[in-house]
Amino acid sequence: MHYHLRYSISCCSYVTAFLFCSSFPNCVGQPYHTAYLKGSNPAIYSSCNLSLVFSIVAWRSRYFTYFWGASGDFAQNCWDVVYEAFGSNEFALAVWGTFLFTSSLYWILGLCYSLIDWTGRPASALKYKIQSNASFQVPFGKVIQVVLFNQIFVGIPFFILAYYLLNWRGYDSGKDLPPFWRIVLEVAFCVLMAEIGFYYSHRLLHHRRIYKHIHKMHHEWTSPTAISAMYCHPVEHLVSNLMSVLLGPLLLGSHMFTSWLWFSLIVFNTLNSHCGFHFPFLPSPENHDFHHLNLNENYGGLGILDKFHGTDSEFLKSKASQRHFLSTSFVPVKQLYPDS
Ligand SMILES: [Zn+2]
Ligand SMILES: [Zn+2]
Repeated sequence: MHYHLRYSISCCSYVTAFLFCSSFPNCVGQPYHTAYLKGSNPAIYSSCNLSLVFSIVAWRSRYFTYFWGASGDFAQNCWDVVYEAFGSNEFALAVWGTFLFTSSLYWILGLCYSLIDWTGRPASALKYKIQSNASFQVPFGKVIQVVLFNQIFVGIPFFILAYYLLNWRGYDSGKDLPPFWRIVLEVAFCVLMAEIGFYYSHRLLHHRRIYKHIHKMHHEWTSPTAISAMYCHPVEHLVSNLMSVLLGPLLLGSHMFTSWLWFSLIVFNTLNSHCGFHFPFLPSPENHDFHHLNLNENYGGLGILDKFHGTDSEFLKSKASQRHFLSTSFVPVKQLYPDS
């Protein structure tokens, strides 16, 4: 197949997976508040979406395999380049590769978002600001220092530990990529595991005896910006961010390519959740923005466990919940669902 066509297919599949996996509850284009307002249970609605994804993947794996066949060679060629760049050394790939890949993704994407806050440009983006009345509160220098500290002094030791844990568990360390259906199912499983890990650890961090010692730091500003996503206490970064993300790949013994794909989704989703803008065609960050504004609701990422535990009752009554969907229009959701 022509190189550019193969490249385009790979990019499209990657972007689709990006949007789909990072926005399960609202990925089918219908705000889940609609299901709620109609009287059905939103938790069931979210679970149905998830089961739908599993069913499609399981029943239509033939087509996914065919699709992967079209772009898989390209992905394999890219992976070969990465693999050889680290001298076919699994340790170097798992530790230094993961560190460089996740950190550069964080800064490149994060700065794209945060520079809008910093410079106020492009002006056309400002209409998508969620807390449009809030003045910009975040000191960039301080955020950059803390995030770099977490990435280097917490992230690198954690990746070393993760490498030995993965070896102890046994993982797919080969150069050959797994089949496409397996990558999709494993990433979906990682999404679920991270939801469980993040929800309960995050809720624990909000316990009145623990909050002021650790998590208060992440809540220093009620209106976050993308690069402040990893602005937190090192203990929080270890327990809530890194451990909940590793849970899926560790349980499954995933291939490093699958892990990197999953890490890129979660980095994107974390940055998007903190960016403070509800852009069209991107997952809605309304739920986590609401958490930063109100503190005591929306502990999870997907919202499934918030439904289950009823920790989204106030959110569901709010305008933010009405705006919490993947917008496919250039009209800002605030205009579609105004405050009054
Ligand atoms: Zn946050
Ligand atoms: Zn919190």
